[in-house]
Amino acid sequence: MTCDRCDRTLPDGETRYVLTLRLTADFDGHLPEGARPGESLDTVLKQCMALPEDELNAQVDLALAFTVCPPCRAVIVQNPLQRTQKSAPGDSMGRIQ
Ligand SMILES: [Zn+2]
Repeated sequence: MTCDRCDRTLPDGETRYVLTLRLTADFDGHLPEGARPGESLDTVLKQCMALPEDELNAQVDLALAFTVCPPCRAVIVQNPLQRTQKSAPGDSMGRIQ
């Protein structure tokens, strides 16, 4: 087994972590400004019809899982959203619990 981030080999018994990533489409109940509801729906439906089913599903709800080593875990925890400018501590940790 190898770390999915740095490709380092992880010997049996070595500490490893499973990183799960889930991206789910969100809708705030508002249509874009200037869009007419019927027209917007037609546009969205046409865009959906043009996509392969797998891609369409992934755009709505994408779940991925990666195995990472401890150093890679530390890097990911420091900046999970890969922001270029570091925010204040605790600003956007995104903790669920
Ligand atoms: Zn790694």
